[in-house]
Amino acid sequence: MQQYLPQVLENRQKGLKAISTPERLLLGPGPSNAHPDVLRAIARPPVGHLDPFYIELMGEVQELLRHVWQTQNRLTLPMSGTGSAAMEATIANSVEPGDKVLVAIKGYFGNRLSDMASRYQAEVVHIEKEWGQAFSLDEIEEALVLHRPAILAMVHAETSTGVLQPMEGIGDLCRKFDCLLLLDTVTSLGGVPLFLDEWKIDLAYSCSQKGLSCPPGLGPFSMGPRAEEKLTKRKGKVPNWYLDVSLLNQYWGSNRVYHHTAPVNMNFGIRESLRLLAEEGLENSWNRHKASASRLWDGLERLGLRLHVDESLRLATLTTVVIPEGVDGKAFSNHLLNKHGVEVGGGLGSLAGKVWRIGLMGYNSTDENVDYILNLFEMELPSFQK
Ligand SMILES: *Cc1c(COP(=O)(O)O)cnc(C)c1O
Repeated sequence: MQQYLPQVLENRQKGLKAISTPERLLLGPGPSNAHPDVLRAIARPPVGHLDPFYIELMGEVQELLRHVWQTQNRLTLPMSGTGSAAMEATIANSVEPGDKVLVAIKGYFGNRLSDMASRYQAEVVHIEKEWGQAFSLDEIEEALVLHRPAILAMVHAETSTGVLQPMEGIGDLCRKFDCLLLLDTVTSLGGVPLFLDEWKIDLAYSCSQKGLSCPPGLGPFSMGPRAEEKLTKRKGKVPNWYLDVSLLNQYWGSNRVYHHTAPVNMNFGIRESLRLLAEEGLENSWNRHKASASRLWDGLERLGLRLHVDESLRLATLTTVVIPEGVDGKAFSNHLLNKHGVEVGGGLGSLAGKVWRIGLMGYNSTDENVDYILNLFEMELPSFQK
């Protein structure tokens, strides 16, 4: 009888072996390398998703997430999915059809927020900045006065440009104009100072694979009391079953009602990554990121390279380096990967072909890695320059 065999099994005759993965140093926009202790945690045998051990671990993950975000939000939990799933969760649980959502766009991920909000039938309005700039408080206030939105959505650390948006005062403005503040903290959590409650952030999300030294697969989510009130009062159901936080909280809260099978091993991993971060100390981690980023910036400038973002707005976790005239940026980053196993990112959108993106996130943010990448630029870049 003829049997269908997938190509990979047919290839076995030609010597297909069990998986063996390459060693990479991931200095791009994410994922970054996971901490070895986190990988060991993920490799543990799974337990049931209602096992008493696991229930206790869930509480630890929530408590640790509140700590790293500096929040007391009850509804703080990791979504089963990547950062984009948690991004969608903040939109799905806050936007009602016809709500006006103001998106402050200064890079690629602002556009994604806008796209998602429109899919949930928001009336989306924008303010925009050039890629490499941030919004001033006056610009935000002007837009709030003009549009009177129900929600202001913005990105704290714009991974596409390497800009850190200053947050001082924005939360107060949102309270004044009775608007919820939704913040993307995907590339800031763990790496740069971030205070959800003090900054009056109503909705936030992040991911496991950037500043938290864990592989991709979980999307931390947090919702404050003002957003929770809007959720409670909404007329229709949250239009996304999987990401509905009122259903999810019946599992993450005290009822422990089955919703979906939690990716238990990923939660072992994030529990461990959050523990490592808490043990290091948040401030120590922020300082480490700041120090290695400064070392990178100094070193790149010493090599005659130009940085895309003004020093006052630069993001410690992600640096955009202007590709010098005449250099094929893609060919150079391919060479780093193929010859040295080092990943560096390219530009997105309006910065495509114009910048390299160097990430120093979580476990990877060390002086040794900085010196290593600087050395590679020094040794290898000249042969790519005409
Ligand atoms: C990476 C990233 C995301 C998306 O996260 P995924 O884990 O890739 O889904 C969203 N926002 C920002 C700012 C990011 O850098």
